[in-house]
Amino acid sequence: LRRIERLEPSVHSFLEWDAADALAQAETADRALADGATHQKQPLLGIPVAIKDNIAVKGQPLRCASRILGDFRSPYDATVVERLRQAGAILLGRLNMDEFAMGSSTENSAFGPTRNPWDLDRTPGGSSGGSAAAVAAEEVPAALGSDTGGSIRQPAAFCGCVGLKPTYGRVSRYGLVAFASSLDQIGPLTATVEDAALLLGVIAGHDPRDATSLPDPALDPDLEGEPGLRGIRLGLPREYFGSGLAPEVEQAVHSAIRHLEGLGAEIREVSLPHTPYALATYYVIATAEASANLARFDGIRYGLRVDGQDPIELYKRTRGRGFGPEVKRRIILGTFVLSSGYYDAYYLRAQKVRTLIRNDFLDAFRRVDLLVTPVTPTPAFRLGEKVSDPLQMYLSDVFTLSCNLAGICGISVPCGFTESPRLPIGLQLLGPPLGEATLLRVAHAYQ
Ligand code: GLN
Repeated sequence: LRRIERLEPSVHSFLEWDAADALAQAETADRALADGATHQKQPLLGIPVAIKDNIAVKGQPLRCASRILGDFRSPYDATVVERLRQAGAILLGRLNMDEFAMGSSTENSAFGPTRNPWDLDRTPGGSSGGSAAAVAAEEVPAALGSDTGGSIRQPAAFCGCVGLKPTYGRVSRYGLVAFASSLDQIGPLTATVEDAALLLGVIAGHDPRDATSLPDPALDPDLEGEPGLRGIRLGLPREYFGSGLAPEVEQAVHSAIRHLEGLGAEIREVSLPHTPYALATYYVIATAEASANLARFDGIRYGLRVDGQDPIELYKRTRGRGFGPEVKRRIILGTFVLSSGYYDAYYLRAQKVRTLIRNDFLDAFRRVDLLVTPVTPTPAFRLGEKVSDPLQMYLSDVFTLSCNLAGICGISVPCGFTESPRLPIGLQLLGPPLGEATLLRVAHAYQ
């Protein structure tokens, strides 16, 4: 708590935290230990975990870093939070993010940006920038984030921590404020792969309250077994190593690949031919779903209300005042691609291309166990560098979006640094649906 107090004025990973409440939870954990509780049964007993501001914690503010939620507090726990509590974790505060998880730098927060602990003039990435910065600054050992198109992996790469996007359906979305429901997944940000595995073990599992939750996603990563990677086939998708990749990122990723080869893995080149369409496909589907999901913020049911002559005016004023510019841009785009006359040309076509992208991955996973790629084309960029150019901002996710479109799992692990300034670089491993055990085993062997 002292470290958070000392670092927050410069890093600003938290929107708020309640020291007294955290200490009370810690005392409960101490009492449980004294009464015979064990880490076998409660693997996170006494461990502080901080939560991204779009995941519901009973009694705590839930604002998605937006003004539109006003002083709303959640009346219930998300399933992941319920599971963290059962595992003994201390729920420590709300983490900053891009408003409604739309962005790649945490600059779209209505409450000011988070800064990258490695260089305070740079962004921590986004949208889970608060989660990544809090872990990198050692304010908390672990945090939850959400990943719709890279929002866990990209900030993990920018901040030098581990970020895991589980297979779609592996982790319940109940209590996660929806951005794009067919893409969103909750996952951990941690310092090590071992900690990511521990957290995933706690939060994963079937949940009848999420209709897209998978029936029996058994998870049994063996991190302590055979340390080598003999028999593991790793694919390098040709399309991820083209132009636009910063030379230092390319070098770090290639030396990581040599290291994996040294551990016994077999390296093969593969192709994911529909990769060039991923960005466009994502921005049609994600905005379409967002425009529908965000219709509920109407000034009647939650948070902010700006009065008007009639309900329509109230609705317009509340949304006009409550949403930031990026959220409005997405709602307008999403409404456009869903509107009659354009639906077939944009939305329906995007859904078809999405299937082609998924099939590319499923084909590749017939030949290899995992794919290895960069996480981002460049290391952390400067605050203010891309905010005025949405397309440049969107491009920082080119390597992470496809994973969500395909519904597969992915992890970002640190794989080196740029020289000057010294900034972390991430390595992305992608695995087939429910391939987390292999993903974690290889990431652990690498780390
Ligand atoms: N940066 C991407 C976007 O702005 C992904 C965000 C996310 O994964 N939540 O949509």
